[in-house]
Amino acid sequence: EAAARRVDDLVRLVPDFPEPGVLFRDITPLLADADAFAQVCEALAVQAGGPIDLVAGMEARGFLLAAPIAVHLGAGLIPVRKAGKLPGPSVAESYSLEYGDATIELHPSTVPAGARVLIVDDVLATGGTAAATIRLLEHCGAEVVGLSFLVELEALGGRALLGDHAVHALVAVP
Ligand code: 5GP
Repeated sequence: EAAARRVDDLVRLVPDFPEPGVLFRDITPLLADADAFAQVCEALAVQAGGPIDLVAGMEARGFLLAAPIAVHLGAGLIPVRKAGKLPGPSVAESYSLEYGDATIELHPSTVPAGARVLIVDDVLATGGTAAATIRLLEHCGAEVVGLSFLVELEALGGRALLGDHAVHALVAVP
């Protein structure tokens, strides 16, 4: 479909970033194209299916997509932040990276029990970030109704960490 073509055309492949051997997907050309940006946000929002109270986006590129999608859906926004950035009482979840651990946090006071939440990020890779976000939201009593990504790197098997939640990606890279 059209939005998937825009992702294919405008997400730039950068070899050896941020370290040797990694093929990084750079979404900045897509963000800079007004039509394409609007089109992919609309396509990600449509995939939500059913009413959404909150859209959760992961720092930092998830913020860039989650905010316009939240406005589009008439939903609120939950910034899921790296450790130590939030000023108020927070809940935290840690997950493993290839080397070491990462921790993400949110303000539970902004997530009412029973809220229907859509999780949005640019890339689904190993799934660690998205799985930790699901745990954070479910800890608050929210219902994760789906996860939407621009790109899924299927070879990294991230989907397996996301249980039976509905997972959508505009482009799946084998
Ligand atoms: P995971 O936790 O699934 O291994 O990694 C996903 C997180 O890392 C996402 O927040 C995503 O923004 C970032 N990420 C991993 N690989 C890439 C990539 O190639 N391009 C971009 N833009 N982000 C990536």
